[in-house]
Amino acid sequence: MKQVYLDYQSAKPVDQRVIDGMMPFFREKYGNPSALHSIGDEGTEALEESRKVIAEFINADEDEIFFTSGATEAINMGIVGYAMRNKNKGNHIIISEVEHISIHNIAKHLERLGFEVSRIPVDQYGRVSLRKLEQRITDKTILISVGYASNEIGTIQPIREIGKLAEERDIAFHSDAVAAEGLMPIDVKRDGVHLMALSSNDIYGPKGVGVFYMRKKYRVNPLIIGGGQERGLRSGSEDVPGIVGMKVAAEIMQQEMLGEIKRFTGYRNRMIKHILEEVPDSYLNGHPTERLPSNTHVRFDGIEGESILLSFKDKGIAISTGSACTSKTLEPSHTLIATGLLHEEAHGSLQITTGRFNTDEDIDTVLEAVPEIVTRLRNLSPIYKSKKV
Ligand code: PMP
Repeated sequence: MKQVYLDYQSAKPVDQRVIDGMMPFFREKYGNPSALHSIGDEGTEALEESRKVIAEFINADEDEIFFTSGATEAINMGIVGYAMRNKNKGNHIIISEVEHISIHNIAKHLERLGFEVSRIPVDQYGRVSLRKLEQRITDKTILISVGYASNEIGTIQPIREIGKLAEERDIAFHSDAVAAEGLMPIDVKRDGVHLMALSSNDIYGPKGVGVFYMRKKYRVNPLIIGGGQERGLRSGSEDVPGIVGMKVAAEIMQQEMLGEIKRFTGYRNRMIKHILEEVPDSYLNGHPTERLPSNTHVRFDGIEGESILLSFKDKGIAISTGSACTSKTLEPSHTLIATGLLHEEAHGSLQITTGRFNTDEDIDTVLEAVPEIVTRLRNLSPIYKSKKV
């Protein structure tokens, strides 16, 4: 059976061009950048060239880029590392209620260490209110962390406005850019972001590679102590093949992003329109316009997430009911609950995320399947009574 993959937010296949770019760094150019011989120099050159390309990708300077083993590590550097370094200035941190699970768990960790955390509520579309954010700022606030966009419902946050507010109040602004990278332009200078996390896989590079961006005048404590690589902030031999993979992924993305945004926006608008028109009692989750081009997130009255996923699986369609990072828990999505949905509404949701290798036929396949599956499951459901009957 043909498989249709529409879960790009949870994982992306590595682009073949990225693999081709990485290959020489496994067996031919395997040197350790810390070594002083010419094989080591090849590693150093690759590392520094990668730093330059990634810096350009987000309009940063090369010495503001630190390679990590993924976004979670970069987020830890940006939040825990910053909090520990700056605790003499204040102990208050602000995050939004719709951050990635890693940020919620870091916030709990910092609370156990004596920090105070405010969680800013969002509106029904999942957007942070600037007014509420401003109200929570105190003279103890040292850090605000709001991601560029939700990895679940795709809502894009007012990042530039938050950056401006943080700048005016002299508070560091950290943003998890993972959900948004490659799907909207990211410019740390324009956006006023001081600390940021990126992942390689989200731009079709290998997993387990990421970047921590830190603007020049900012300082964090290292979390991993050792040989002093990455200017003392991230010790351990650099994963040169992985970092080169991220570089090639960023180069390709620079070239292809605008075309992809246009293509995915077409897919998304078509899916939202079709589903809402064809399926009674269906609703869009997240913002109608301020949303990632790849994200379609809908919910259906009287449908339970698990059963709908299994029905799609039977048809060879891979989609999701929420964040893959938390899908093994039975808890409803904290993001959907933050937008005001009831538990049962949150459980009846479906997340479809498109990516580089999708085609029009993939969209046709899923659009054909959705009304059929929802109708069949509703016919089996003793509790579903259509409001339209
Ligand atoms: N932030 C967001 C928005 C994510 O979706 C993820 C997972 N892809 C992460 C952070 C963590 O990234 P990683 O798995 O690379 O550590």
